[in-house]
Amino acid sequence: MTQIVKMKGMNKYFGKLHVLRDIDLTVEQGEVVVVIGASGSGKSTLIRCANGLEEFESGRVEVHGHTLSPKGGNQQALTAIRKEVGMVFQQFNLFPHLTVKQNIMLAPKKVKNTPKTVANATAERLLDRVGIGSQADKYPSHLSGGQQQRVAIARALAMEPGLMLFDEPTSALDPEMIGEVLDVMRELAKEGMTMMVVTHEMGFAREVADRVIYIHEGQIVEQGKPDDVFDNPRNERTQAFLSRVL
Ligand code: ADP
Ligand code: MG
Repeated sequence: MTQIVKMKGMNKYFGKLHVLRDIDLTVEQGEVVVVIGASGSGKSTLIRCANGLEEFESGRVEVHGHTLSPKGGNQQALTAIRKEVGMVFQQFNLFPHLTVKQNIMLAPKKVKNTPKTVANATAERLLDRVGIGSQADKYPSHLSGGQQQRVAIARALAMEPGLMLFDEPTSALDPEMIGEVLDVMRELAKEGMTMMVVTHEMGFAREVADRVIYIHEGQIVEQGKPDDVFDNPRNERTQAFLSRVL
């Protein structure tokens, strides 16, 4: 098995706040890992550490064979990792002055020097895949939240990432749009994409995750197959959290 993400003894502080504590975490190729936990427990920081968006103070983070070191690390590794990791945020973060298709073509053209015709064809294929081929020439503000988030997913996929990180991708959506975004993520998982997903959608976690990780105050206190974690949580913190959200 190839390990796409390998974190070992990783600690992260914001000033005096010890946000992540001795994180040991591996994600295998093709695995879908869902991260759950209360607000402020460190979920976003954890996945941001997996693509170098946050520095950390001690330990090791290895992604796709590139090693990030504490504090700054190595710029070459950072650049390599950013090329191979796609990220989707709660707020879609699309470029408002670019059309949907231009949003998707931008990174392949700038970062990978993909020829325009190739980037264009890829964008059209990806928009069809996320079900919004007909919206290609619109601006993001003319799309619904669910459509914008599907564009954000297509934009990440355009870089042909080996790992996709999702940070509460449906939390900013009206309820009726959550399903269409989860459907796209479910398809990606089925096709074998390696994914780390922070979500409060426990139904999705149960159905799609290979492994669920529960974080409490910056520590992984429990992890396992979704049915085990949801039906028989062993840690009392996990039990308390699940009794609040399920
Ligand atoms: P979660 O995603 O689980 O809600 P976060 O990873 O966003 O949690 O935050 C974990 C802790 O770190 C929280 O106490 C939060 O207030 C703090 N924190 C997050 N980002 C910053 C930052 N940039 N500067 C200082 N503290 C931060
Ligand atoms: Mg968060």
